[in-house]
Amino acid sequence: MHEASIANSILQIVTDKLSTTPHSQAARRVHIIVGAFRNVDLDSLQFAFDNLRGLYHGCVNCELEADMISARAICLEGNHKYSPDFAHAFRCPVCQGPIGKLLCGEELDVITITLEANPVEANSMEGIFNA
Ligand SMILES: [Zn+2]
Repeated sequence: MHEASIANSILQIVTDKLSTTPHSQAARRVHIIVGAFRNVDLDSLQFAFDNLRGLYHGCVNCELEADMISARAICLEGNHKYSPDFAHAFRCPVCQGPIGKLLCGEELDVITITLEANPVEANSMEGIFNA
């Protein structure tokens, strides 16, 4: 179940951010995007995250917000842009051709980490996660 290792990686990034951010006391929320072609089950990822977050300092109340990004591709011969999917064998709906180039759909990025500051207002910071 690779969702557990992804959840651990996300939590590690969150704790690293927490430990290097002065005056922060806990993580409130982490927002990630997952490409449809990464083969990540979001329910499994959420379950793993919720069960592992207590092991990481300052993360026990951290919420995971994960958004699936659909894939976009250009077909090999017709140069059509489309959203490839398994149901259509990833083929172009216009010319039935195969994928020529994948434009997006393989992302796995941490977009925002929201920390609780102590004692002032919470801050948002940015980080990038490449698995
Ligand atoms: Zn096409």
